[in-house]
Amino acid sequence: MALQSRPPIITIMGHVDHGKTSLLDYIRKTQVAAGEAGGITQHIGAYQAEFKGKKLTFLDTPGHAAFNKMRERGAQVTDIIVLVVAVNDGVKPQTIEAIRHIKNSGNPFVVAINKIDIKDTYPDVVKGQLVEQGILVQGFGGDIDAIHLSAKTGEGVDTLLETLAAMAELQELQADPEGPLEAVVIESTRDPKRGPLATAIVKQGTLKPRQDIFVYGGKVSTELSTTENKDVEGRVRSLNNERGQLLQEALPGTPVEIIGLTDVAPVGSTIRDQAADYSQVAENKIDTRTEAVVTPESEMAALFNDKPKLKLIVKADVEGTLEAIIQTIDAESVELLSSGVGPVTEHEVELAQTADATIISFHTKVTKQIKELAKRQGVKLRAYEVIYELIEDLQKQMLKLLEPTIDEIITGEAEVLQIFDMRGEKIAGIRVKTGEIKRSDLMHLKRGDEIIANPVIKSMMHGKDEILSIKAKSEGGMTFKNRKLEFQVGDTLVAYKIED
Ligand code: GDP
Repeated sequence: MALQSRPPIITIMGHVDHGKTSLLDYIRKTQVAAGEAGGITQHIGAYQAEFKGKKLTFLDTPGHAAFNKMRERGAQVTDIIVLVVAVNDGVKPQTIEAIRHIKNSGNPFVVAINKIDIKDTYPDVVKGQLVEQGILVQGFGGDIDAIHLSAKTGEGVDTLLETLAAMAELQELQADPEGPLEAVVIESTRDPKRGPLATAIVKQGTLKPRQDIFVYGGKVSTELSTTENKDVEGRVRSLNNERGQLLQEALPGTPVEIIGLTDVAPVGSTIRDQAADYSQVAENKIDTRTEAVVTPESEMAALFNDKPKLKLIVKADVEGTLEAIIQTIDAESVELLSSGVGPVTEHEVELAQTADATIISFHTKVTKQIKELAKRQGVKLRAYEVIYELIEDLQKQMLKLLEPTIDEIITGEAEVLQIFDMRGEKIAGIRVKTGEIKRSDLMHLKRGDEIIANPVIKSMMHGKDEILSIKAKSEGGMTFKNRKLEFQVGDTLVAYKIED
């Protein structure tokens, strides 16, 4: 085994229209890898760019569907995530979804605040919104890079690439080009002339023309029914890069289009070498990160992961709305037990009771009998008339499920006793009940049991003096960087740290 450094694999995520495609296109056009100029670029699902002699591999599948596909491709493929937020639009539902994915994956990430060429826009506002989602960027209580850029003019894109290259270096990504081949399929189609095509990113080993390969994971995929019960194998007829150029080999970190498979390979499956010996794979650490060791077991676990899910029964007045609601549901954190058009029925309340599910009803009449039955059975039934309230609530609930995965240690708790207003700035008069609250602490703002914001302390005072901490049984005042933070008397401020 000879471990060598490999290019990072980078995914761009963010809300629709925030400029993911534009950014990918700009980088593709301007950072052509050495020796690969010319050729017409085609979409193969990923491409390689070069920045100051360092290769960077970008997954090229932005947009709505990318989120779901990414889940299948998952953290196994991605090393670094770029979260794109348009400065003129700010944090939006899909930004929040992307943040959830980022937190879930544990991948390092960087924020790209895009469209800064638009006049009268304020990156700091976006940063404040990110802080509210627990993304603490530089200058706002954290150390996450937030790069101002424009995919239109190209301003700031070099800084982004520089940051990505530095992050990759820190991760010390390595792979063994001589090890047994493992290439993850990221895109897959059937071309009328060339037959089944798969784009794969080599994770380990080297892919070469004429190699006899097989696809692992074809049988367990549910996405492409054509391959559900078939073995996909083949001999590599040709390897192409995104410029349609023929390659003689594809090393770790390289995306490549493969012709020669017998059938369409499911996205997320792994291509292996028929001649290689995989018996050692599970024992040998291929990558510096254990998560990247793709063994049959870990693939199965990824497909059948059994994190707790929010169980839901969804009812709506019309089919179109029902579909819209269902589309916002994140399959990773929600199990949809049943859905339909019309009022909630007794049977559904009983089902919810047995399965410990929540019933969501939109624009349908909930009868008194049903309300009473739900109450008696201890079933949560939520009725909504405004769609965005429903979606916002759902998102909060889905996010809540992720909380236990982060090990937080509470270091202090304070109650908001009074609110003062000083020159337009709101000051919370607080009393620390337990522990201690320091100005640099990570914080939650809680109302009852619910976390409603993650504020960042701007200043702390005792009388007129600026202070750095307030201990138990003491009182003081504090202001927050989140200017719009809506705290009330009776809210709790919780200081915490994350367990290593
Ligand atoms: P995606 O849905 O996230 O892939 O977004 P697109 O890349 O398709 O961009 C959406 C729209 O925003 C398009 O009309 C782009 O031309 C525009 N756009 C993207 N980046 C920028 C930028 O940096 N500045 C400006 N002014 N417009 C941009």
